[in-house]
Amino acid sequence: MVRVNIEMEEVDLEAFVPDISQAGAMVKVDLRYRVDPLLGTSTRIISGSKLNPSERADLTPLTERGGFCPFCRENVESATAAFPREIVPEGKIRVGKAVVVPNILAYSTSSAVGIYDTERHFISLSEFDRSTLTDAFEGMLLHCRAVRRSDQRLLYSSISANYLPSSGSSLVHPHLQSSHDVVPLTSQRQRLVASERFLAEHGVPYLTALVEQERDGDRFVGTTGSVTWLTPFAPTGFHEVWGVVTGRGDLPQVDHAVVEDLAVGLEEVLYAYDAANLSAFNFTLQGGGPDATDRGFELCFKIVSRAPVEPYYRSDVTYFEKLASETMIDTSPEIWAASLRRRFNELKTRQ
Ligand SMILES: [Zn+2]
Repeated sequence: MVRVNIEMEEVDLEAFVPDISQAGAMVKVDLRYRVDPLLGTSTRIISGSKLNPSERADLTPLTERGGFCPFCRENVESATAAFPREIVPEGKIRVGKAVVVPNILAYSTSSAVGIYDTERHFISLSEFDRSTLTDAFEGMLLHCRAVRRSDQRLLYSSISANYLPSSGSSLVHPHLQSSHDVVPLTSQRQRLVASERFLAEHGVPYLTALVEQERDGDRFVGTTGSVTWLTPFAPTGFHEVWGVVTGRGDLPQVDHAVVEDLAVGLEEVLYAYDAANLSAFNFTLQGGGPDATDRGFELCFKIVSRAPVEPYYRSDVTYFEKLASETMIDTSPEIWAASLRRRFNELKTRQ
C-alpha cells in the first residue's frame, strides 16, 4: 500500500467578540476554518452558539395519519404505477416490506421511489432497523441494475433521501429516491474530476488513502464489515457522517453483503441522531459510473442532520451555505465522532 499524506488545512480565523460580563471587553473565541482536502470546499466551525436542539421535537401533529397518503398500504396499489414491463418485468419491485415504484416527479431521466414499509406511515429515527434499511436499499439497487440493463447511457446513478419537511421532503411517509442520468450531479462530477487527479498524482484512490490515514484517529467512528465510518474533516452539514466503501465505485457493484454492512452502520447513526434530539436528515450514495474505480472514485455514503422539525424552525442553510458555498457548523467533527465511536464500539461487543 502506497502511504499518502493527505494534508488537512486548518486556519484559526482569530475572531474576537465582546464579553458582556466583562463590560464588553473583547475576548478571543475559537473559530476554525477548514478546507476539504479533495474538493477544496471550506467550512467554518464556530463556537459559543448552540444551534442544536436541547429537547426532542414533538412530531405527533406532523406524523399522525391525517389526509390521503399514497404510500400507505391501502393506497399504494392504486396511487402508484408500475415500471414498464420491458425494464422491470414484475412491474413494481418488492423486497420484504419495501416497495419500489416509478417517481411521478421527473427530476431525472429515470428515477424511482422506495417506500421502506407501506404499513408504517411514520418510522421514527430510533425505529429504523437494519432489515428495513437493507430491504429498501436492495429494492433501489434492483431498479438501478434494471435501468442500466435497459439503457447503458444512464451511467450516473445515486440513491438519496429527504426525511421530514425540514429536509425538503414533501411526504411524511418515509421513502428514498434515486437518479439515473446521462449527466452527473454537480457533486458526482466534482468528485470524479478530483478523484481522477488524486489517483494520477498519488497512485492510490483518495478514499482508500483517507481511510488509511484516519483509521483510529479523532474522526474515526468504526467499521461494519466492509464499510468504514468516519466524520469528515471539513463537513458540508451538521452531524455529517461518511460510510466509505473502498474498492467499489458504482451502484450496481454494491452486493447484498455491502448493503447489510451499510444498513448496520446507518441504523447506529440514526439512533445517535435520535439520542441527540435531532429529527430530520438527508443522505446520499452516489456512483461514479461503470469505470469509476479506474478513475480513483470510490463509494461514500454521506448523511447530515437537518433543522429540527418544529414550528418556526431555524433553517440550517444560511447565506453561507446557499450563496457562499461555505458550510458553518457548531460541533467539531472530532467531538461528534467521539460520541458515535462509543456507540459503534458497543456494536462490536454486541455482535
Ligand atoms: Zn403513509
